[in-house]
Amino acid sequence: MSLQRTLSIIKPDAVGRNITGSINARFEQEGLRITAQKMMFLCRSQVEKFYEIHRDKAFYDSLCEYMSSGPVVVQVLSGEDAVARNRRIMGATNPANAEIGTIRRDFGQNVEQNAVHGSDSVENAEKEIAFFFSKLELMP
Ligand code: UDP
Ligand code: MG
Repeated sequence: MSLQRTLSIIKPDAVGRNITGSINARFEQEGLRITAQKMMFLCRSQVEKFYEIHRDKAFYDSLCEYMSSGPVVVQVLSGEDAVARNRRIMGATNPANAEIGTIRRDFGQNVEQNAVHGSDSVENAEKEIAFFFSKLELMP
């Protein structure tokens, strides 16, 4: 077990349906602390850069369009094994395959509009946090 932090994004479908509070309650109930948080309306080129790793995937174009279609809530979640813990709380990428009680199962619309993003490794978490937050915005 180790104290970690991870980057989370509440995606435009969830912000649009006004359920950011319900999603944040899940993180808190499951032992994660929101240690930084801000609402942003990302432009297409910012989203393209964030999801660069998926550039060659068939879903990339549609994903970038969707993620720049409305405001998102970008946040840092901190706690014991925060990266893997958040992936468990989120559930599988496709809400149809996500376990009951996970955020994506309960709040996701489809494989693209799946309510939340969460970093997939400690290394990527640090890169993604640095992408969105300055040192001043982060807890020491
Ligand atoms: N995505 C999609 N179609 C797919 C797979 C992924 O639209 O077949 C979208 C979905 O919004 C997903 C994001 O692309 O959350 C990033 O995909 P990834 O494989 O990294 O899934 P995640 O790590 O978010 O579970
Ligand atoms: Mg991913």
